[in-house]
Amino acid sequence: MDFSSKKAVRNQLAGEGLRPKKGLGQNFLTDESVLSDIVSAAELDADSCVLEIGPGMGVLTRELAKTAGKVVAVEIDTTILPVLSKNLAEFDNVSVINQDILKVDLDALFTEHFGDRPVKVIANLPYYITTPIIMKLLEHSRIASIVVMIQREVARRLSAKAGSKDFGAITLAVDYRAVAEPVRDVPPEAFMPAPKVWSSVIRLVRREAPPVTVLNEKHFFDLIKGAFSQRRKTFVNSVGSYPALNTNKEEVKAILETLNISETVRGEALDIEAYANISNEMVKGM
Ligand code: SAM
Repeated sequence: MDFSSKKAVRNQLAGEGLRPKKGLGQNFLTDESVLSDIVSAAELDADSCVLEIGPGMGVLTRELAKTAGKVVAVEIDTTILPVLSKNLAEFDNVSVINQDILKVDLDALFTEHFGDRPVKVIANLPYYITTPIIMKLLEHSRIASIVVMIQREVARRLSAKAGSKDFGAITLAVDYRAVAEPVRDVPPEAFMPAPKVWSSVIRLVRREAPPVTVLNEKHFFDLIKGAFSQRRKTFVNSVGSYPALNTNKEEVKAILETLNISETVRGEALDIEAYANISNEMVKGM
C-alpha cells in the first residue's frame, strides 16, 4: 500500500475530513529518498529505543518501526490519531502518546517504555517550535543522538563557526552538549503541503563531556543568552544590562581586560572557549 505519496496523504486526510493544520507545522513528508536518508542517519538496529516527535500520519514512524526495537511517538493532534493508528496497525512495537512534546516528562516516559537504555530521537519537527524542542532534548543525558528535519536556516546556525552571520546562542548551546553533522538538504516539494523554506536533516551526537570546563552551567548559559539578547550591541552593552547576570558594563569591561579581549567585541565573534573563560572569571568574583 502507498503511504507516502502526495496523493496518499491527501486521500487519507480527506477520508477523515481533515486538512493539514498550519498552526501545528503539519508538512507531511512525501519523498521516499528523504525517508530512507533519515533512517540510515539514525543507525538503527533491533535494540534501538526511538522517540519520534510528531508522527503525523506515520510515514516515518512505519520506517522506524521496521528496524528499531521500540518506538514511542508523541503527537499533539488528537484528530489525526485515527489515520495514524490505521497506518501503524501492523506494528506491535510502537506506542503513540497524545501529548505536547514540550509538556512531556521525558525521564518518566523513557523509564516507562525503555527502562534504562539509551534513546535515539528521530523527527520531522514542527518548525514553529524547533528551538525549544532541541533545547529540551539536549538537557536529557539519556538521549544519545538526535536526527531531525528542521528549517535549513536553523540547521546552518547549529553548525556555524564563531564570527559568521549564522553564529548565535543556539550554536553555543548545542556545541556544549553535542556535535552537529549535516545529513542533507531537502527542497519544499518533498512535503505536502510544501513549506515556504528549504529544510535540512541534521544529526546531533551527544558529547561524552563538554568541550570546555565551566564552573557554573546556569551562569554560562545566562551569559550566552545575555550576549545575544541585543544583537546589534557590543558584548559589554548586552551582557552589562542583562538582568539575570546581575552585573554592569564596568565589571564586564574589567573582565574582558583581564582576559585580553577587546571591550568593543560583539557576542558573535567569541567562541565557546571565550564564553567559558568569561563566565568562569565572572563566577569567581561573585
Ligand atoms: N512525521 C510526519 C511526517 O514526516 O510526515 C509529520 C511531520 S509534521 C512536520 C510535524 C508533526 O508534529 C505534525 O504531525 C504535528 O501535528 C506534530 N506536532 C506539532 N506540535 C507538536 C507538539 N507540541 N508536540 C507533539 N507533536 C506536535
